[in-house]
Amino acid sequence: GTAQVAVTGLAVMGRNLARNLARNGFRVAVHNRTTSRAEALVEEFGHEGDFTLARTAEELVAALERPRRIIVMVKAGEATDAVLDELVPLLDEGDIVADAGNAHWRDTVRRHAALADKGIRFAGVGVSGGEVGALEGPSIMPGCDADTYGELGPFLEIISAHVDDEPCCTLIGPDGSGHFVKMVHNGIEYSDMQLIAETYDLLRGPLGLPVDAVADTFRAWNDTELESYLVQITAEVLAHTDADTGRPFVDVVRDAAEQKGTGRWTVQTALDLGVPVTGIAEATMARAVSGDTERRAAVREALEPVDDGDEGGSDAAAVDLSVDDLRAALYAAKVVSYAQGLDMVREGSRENDWDIDPADLSRIWRDGCIIRARLLGDITQAVEEHPDAPSLLATPTFAAAVADRLPALRRVVTAAVASGTPAPVFSAVLAYVDALRAERLPAALVQGLRDYFGAHTYERVDREGTFHTEWSKDRAEVEA
Ligand code: NDP
Repeated sequence: GTAQVAVTGLAVMGRNLARNLARNGFRVAVHNRTTSRAEALVEEFGHEGDFTLARTAEELVAALERPRRIIVMVKAGEATDAVLDELVPLLDEGDIVADAGNAHWRDTVRRHAALADKGIRFAGVGVSGGEVGALEGPSIMPGCDADTYGELGPFLEIISAHVDDEPCCTLIGPDGSGHFVKMVHNGIEYSDMQLIAETYDLLRGPLGLPVDAVADTFRAWNDTELESYLVQITAEVLAHTDADTGRPFVDVVRDAAEQKGTGRWTVQTALDLGVPVTGIAEATMARAVSGDTERRAAVREALEPVDDGDEGGSDAAAVDLSVDDLRAALYAAKVVSYAQGLDMVREGSRENDWDIDPADLSRIWRDGCIIRARLLGDITQAVEEHPDAPSLLATPTFAAAVADRLPALRRVVTAAVASGTPAPVFSAVLAYVDALRAERLPAALVQGLRDYFGAHTYERVDREGTFHTEWSKDRAEVEA
């Protein structure tokens, strides 16, 4: 065969990736379990480039030059295994299979090892940018061996988004590292969106802005340090009017946020690694709360008669809060949540021996992906200049940025609490910063309690060693 690369799985993402490859001059073989999708692609977009239609896996394999490069873009999970089971027996040693779906990174580690045993090179490729990104240039996070990247990377780098001449695609590290990073990217996406939603809620509730003014506010903010894809589309979604009812679109959408699971995976993995990604965790939990319709109704009704005094409700006058406070707080909270995400990548890299360069992430997230933002350029610079800083919040630029905005962030959380407006991510990231800044934490008491009931021992501030107090005897301290 003469095709240079194949895409199997031609729903919205795969179809657009295939077109992107063809538009960039590559000879592309296309395949889909349901052949009509592949036929439709060639019929509709065949004029865009050099496509070879493959009706079966055998035809797909035959269409490709060697080593074969096959991009799998199907539903993550069992579908991916089904596709691999069908393809792999047809492949030759050295061929490359790249899973560009949203696989769990542990599955990617497993598949990489299983295929390596058969001499097949496997890449786990994180892709962000949605439908449009796939067509016009996504952000791409590949994890694979260096020799595999040598064969595959040039294709991915050409179809990715670019900032100036730099592709938003680079080898992240071995096996599961690309999908790990994509997972954290999605986690950050969750917290970004929830922070925007909390900001919107405070602008409309306690500050009493009508929805079109909130839309205008976000539009104006997109010309500031907050410039980002998500802020830009927030203005568009808020400005949209429902054709049926003439009401603001946001008022006719059921307020139950769904998830496909990458946020949950991020939090599960973070718990395993012991990294506090509190912003992402609260954002993920907030979606769960929103979807808990029955419980929301029951508790709302049960608490209805409770009078919590003049403090409760949404009395705007009682709240000392400005639109500028919200802008500053949104930026600061975003920085904290990115800092937590980067910490998680560092820890995952250390734990799995991946040797990921955190500066690579912010660099390839600058364009193409859903969390693209002006902020990411500054993060890249800070991480490059201070590679050993234990937190983004400890770099001079971001320490100053957060310190300047801390009073505003505190006013936002205060106003949220006073007005009874739930702001779980704002609250969580502020608590995180306050905890990191604190001279002493009440963790000392927690250690005391653990030692009391479980003889779990403690260390002292004034001398080396591990100690236990004999609480049930004479309370003498013994060295453990
Ligand atoms: P879907 O996740 O809806 O998956 C549909 C595709 O999977 C179809 O091509 C379908 O084939 C194929 N498929 C499902 N089950 C099987 C099976 N058992 N055997 C073979 N093929 C199967 O499509 P999307 O385009 O939305 O996403 C593709 C991948 O990209 C997913 O892993 C997704 O998580 C990821 N992704 C999606 C993004 C998005 O914005 N949508 C962004 C980034 C990544 P058939 O036509 O025969 O049913």
